[in-house]
Amino acid sequence: MLVDIHSHLYFEQFDKDRDDVISRAEKSGVVSIINSGTDHKSNITVLDLAKKHKICNATLGIYPTDAMKMSDKELEEELDFIRSQKKNVLGIGEIGLDFHLTKDVKEHEIQIKAFKKIVLSLMDLNLPFVIHSRKAEKECIDILEELKVKKVVFHCFTGKFSLVKRIQENNWSVSIPANIDKSHHFQGVVELLSINNILTETDAPFLTPSGEIRSEPSFIKGTIMKIAEIKKLDVGEVEKNIYFNYKKIFG
Ligand SMILES: [Zn+2]
Repeated sequence: MLVDIHSHLYFEQFDKDRDDVISRAEKSGVVSIINSGTDHKSNITVLDLAKKHKICNATLGIYPTDAMKMSDKELEEELDFIRSQKKNVLGIGEIGLDFHLTKDVKEHEIQIKAFKKIVLSLMDLNLPFVIHSRKAEKECIDILEELKVKKVVFHCFTGKFSLVKRIQENNWSVSIPANIDKSHHFQGVVELLSINNILTETDAPFLTPSGEIRSEPSFIKGTIMKIAEIKKLDVGEVEKNIYFNYKKIFG
């Protein structure tokens, strides 16, 4: 009952062996791979993957730096499209802020405006939001608290531990990637969070664990083992708990 709640299997890194990657995941015990769209083209692709493969699911999103470049009209059109796909998706994402890719304060303001607009416009769908928050972790948390959003998952959260505590206090979740085997940061995040607020992801093909050239959903098993080691819990128990967390959030 393993879950990869954030993946990008539509990337070209998987063009040669996408079907193999998916069947390898299935054999390793993965029951759900959520592919996250980041723009109109990839939103269409993740919907197609979900139709084609039983274990694939989709969240639709607009990447912060894409949202930044869209006109109000373009943004609204994509939001309408996402809204029209409510029945075919498990959540909204990835969306959020990225202050690493853009250094200019004016651009940050445009991103914040677009992020708020996306959340406000889609909140009534009552779907979880999968949040990208690179170098803008505090800002994302502030906005989501201000808008009183209930179902939130921070993917690849690299913010301070004090902010991890705020995520916990809001009863939101963090999804832990497969590079936890070498990342002291993610090991620390797991230590801080309750097992009830932890999910697993790969962000495939990124966030690669040691000795691999890309990440893929079949690596989730290793993440579960590492979480069990840190939490001093039984591997089976961690697997069940995370699946339960997944069902609670993504339904
Ligand atoms: Zn991602």
